[in-house]
Amino acid sequence: MADPTTCQLPSAHDVVEREVVDGSRHLSEALPRVRDMTPALSPSRASDFMQCPLLYRFRVVDRLPEPPSAAAARGTLVHAALERVFDLPAAERTPEATIALLPEQWARLVEEEPELASLVAAGVPVPDVAAGVPVPDVAEGVPVSDVAAGVPVPDPTAPAQGADAEPPLPDEAAWFAEAAGFVRTWFTLEDPTRLEPAERELYVEAEVDGLTMRGYVDRLDVAPDGRLRVVDYKTGRSPSELWEGKALFQMKFYALVLWRTRGVIPTLLQLVYLRDGQILRYSPDEQELLATERKIRALWTAIERAADTGDWRPRRNRLCDWCHHKPICPAWGGTPPPLPADAEQRAVDPRATGQADPADDAAE
Ligand code: SF4
Repeated sequence: MADPTTCQLPSAHDVVEREVVDGSRHLSEALPRVRDMTPALSPSRASDFMQCPLLYRFRVVDRLPEPPSAAAARGTLVHAALERVFDLPAAERTPEATIALLPEQWARLVEEEPELASLVAAGVPVPDVAAGVPVPDVAEGVPVSDVAAGVPVPDPTAPAQGADAEPPLPDEAAWFAEAAGFVRTWFTLEDPTRLEPAERELYVEAEVDGLTMRGYVDRLDVAPDGRLRVVDYKTGRSPSELWEGKALFQMKFYALVLWRTRGVIPTLLQLVYLRDGQILRYSPDEQELLATERKIRALWTAIERAADTGDWRPRRNRLCDWCHHKPICPAWGGTPPPLPADAEQRAVDPRATGQADPADDAAE
């Protein structure tokens, strides 16, 4: 399937192909034309900037590599199974049938992204999966106070920078057992035999005042009377009230895009938390979505300002311990690399700033 993110920018790719003379196709080689492109922002990059401008810089400007995340990969795997189960006739959408999808979906993901295989140990003796392997707590290693506060934890199994010990790899059976646990939890929250989603992994995009907003909606349900329900799965635990705003920002972002493209404000935004079996529901109104639109515009303005000034200051936050770039973060005594010469253009390159993936933030 063509990647809609890149489909939106055929001219940009034409530029890449024309300008590359050495046979390699690096994004940076088309950067002189970035300012000619329509700016774009995805919820993930917007959240990065809100969390910490320096984190945004490391990801979008410096493009520093980050190791594959076990939590993110597990989230992607569970998402894939929850999407594919709707291919089955309604009566066959059982927990067992959904769990049976996991190995083939994992094989597909590894084929697409071979480095994911490094997240799972092969050939290690394992406990009995069917008997219900105790699932490691997603919050393992998270400061107790943060767990109590319901802080979203993006990747607890990724080695926190500065930590000496690597977490042990799950073996394959334990890996699937964890994913199966999420599937079973989902069946306690929703009944797929009674659901016929209008859309799954729906790519959404809208241009508002010259800024393209884009992302993927996990599931869109449409009632016979036209009401929309936007559903997003999370393999993390539900946030406390304090952190609900961050989770709902992504949903309001999608609601805004759907409103702008379909002319209908979604009736319900539904976040399904598979770690602790909670559902967060929210009904947005027009004023809130207009406020979300203003917020996104203001964020983009702030990003452009940082791009112009090169001022990407760190913002220490409760997720710093899970930031892969902590060792080079000045807020923690580190030294970042010098800004690339084309930093100003990289910072607003829509192919990076609008980067969206079907399972973005699935592990939160
Ligand atoms: S460690 Fe914290 S302050 Fe530093 S870049 Fe990462 S998120 Fe930002």
